[in-house]
Amino acid sequence: MHNADLLARSRSAVWHPCTQMKRHETLPLVPIRRGEGVWLYDCDGKRYLDSVSSWWVNLFGHSNPRINAAITDQLGKLEHVMLAGFTHEPVVQLSESLRELAPAGLGHCFYGSDGASATEIALKMSAHYWRNSGKPHKTHFLSLQNSYHGETLGALSVTDVALFKDAYGALILQNATVPSPDSRNAAEGEDAQSFALRCAAQLETHLRQHHANIAALIVEPLVQGAAGMAMYHPAYLRRARELCDQYRVHLIADEIAVGMGRTGTMFACEQAGNQLGLPASGEAAVALSPSGGKLERGGITPDFLLLSKGITGGYLPLSIVMTTDMVYQAFYADEVARGFLHSHSYTGNPLACRAALATLDIFASDNVLHSNRGKAAYLNRIAAPLREHPKVKNFRNTGMIWAFEVDTPHADFARRCFSLALGHELLLRPMGNTVYFMPPYVISTNEIDFLVEQTLKTIERLC
Ligand SMILES: *Cc1c(COP(=O)(O)O)cnc(C)c1O
Repeated sequence: MHNADLLARSRSAVWHPCTQMKRHETLPLVPIRRGEGVWLYDCDGKRYLDSVSSWWVNLFGHSNPRINAAITDQLGKLEHVMLAGFTHEPVVQLSESLRELAPAGLGHCFYGSDGASATEIALKMSAHYWRNSGKPHKTHFLSLQNSYHGETLGALSVTDVALFKDAYGALILQNATVPSPDSRNAAEGEDAQSFALRCAAQLETHLRQHHANIAALIVEPLVQGAAGMAMYHPAYLRRARELCDQYRVHLIADEIAVGMGRTGTMFACEQAGNQLGLPASGEAAVALSPSGGKLERGGITPDFLLLSKGITGGYLPLSIVMTTDMVYQAFYADEVARGFLHSHSYTGNPLACRAALATLDIFASDNVLHSNRGKAAYLNRIAAPLREHPKVKNFRNTGMIWAFEVDTPHADFARRCFSLALGHELLLRPMGNTVYFMPPYVISTNEIDFLVEQTLKTIERLC
């Protein structure tokens, strides 16, 4: 099929996500035929550097030979079996490996199919825990302003993005929000840490008044992705953990986007122990162990840790809710109804688990966290012309995430930037006037050069 063909047929038969379909009267869809490494190729052979990792999921490139081989091997053995009443090697191995890697104490893995279902599971599990523990009034949830935790009705009730939420106001539970520690909102002369602690004080005020009805606080640790890559100081996480303990409220760490090495450590929560915070250069690694493993000084353990997106290297839908023995034990009883009866048809799919195991293998054998630090430092070095560009504001970096705002008079900046970037062989997908990079970890220094150069050209053309 040629590009034009595919586009017309896609517009008529496929209802695309996160899209006003009428826009595609003028903005063409991009028909992708194949991918390799950081590159996507369309039906006419044009290439695009996938700087957003295909919606933040891809870690080790498209068509990664090692992940391909693992899935192919698994295909020859078992494609799927229900996880109620049955088990299989990949799901056991994955659960054990994650227990080893995750912050201490998260020994139990519950499986879902995508990020939003992980959020639903954590919310239900938290409220059900309190019900089983004789506190049935703890049914409310608290999230940060501008938070994003998915778009099913329960997840939307803890999401604070008006565009995704307003049309469904009547359908969703009304939960409260507290101020986001987003460093961009610090006062003149206030550093990121002081601002984070000031926001944590507002969290405390809220918890003091309402904790009796609150089951959990849910946060995106270190970076609020859909808010426009809002980055904040890790001191907030440490304080949030203390306050949740003090007021007996669960802490849910939604690491769907930031987990799997994205912020520089395997899990963002590991950095909560790092009171120094990450320097703006992203070369924070002072507190990292030489092997690139967990922080030696330790981070925090949330009551629930949510994983999805990168967990399968961006290959297959899978999500995981990790929780503590204390939560698990509250459901462990003779009565069926005390159990957690939630299920999805594809829970713990073996192909997805094998993709995840192959992903973890690559982390271990290639010392990925360590080499990412080198790549991040390199990008920060060569991005000076971008950082210093008169139209670029708030250039920031955490691990393998970069973002900046572009000072632009165009209300449709995101769309224009997306289109222009494609002409420069680049997939950029700004959120409002925030441009961000979240590249696959296999990106090479040449490809980083290309990314930065082509972004600069795109921005120059736009301004
Ligand atoms: C993407 C995302 C989700 C939702 O995951 P889906 O697989 O898209 O449902 C939830 N939380 C965060 C932080 C995310 O980035």
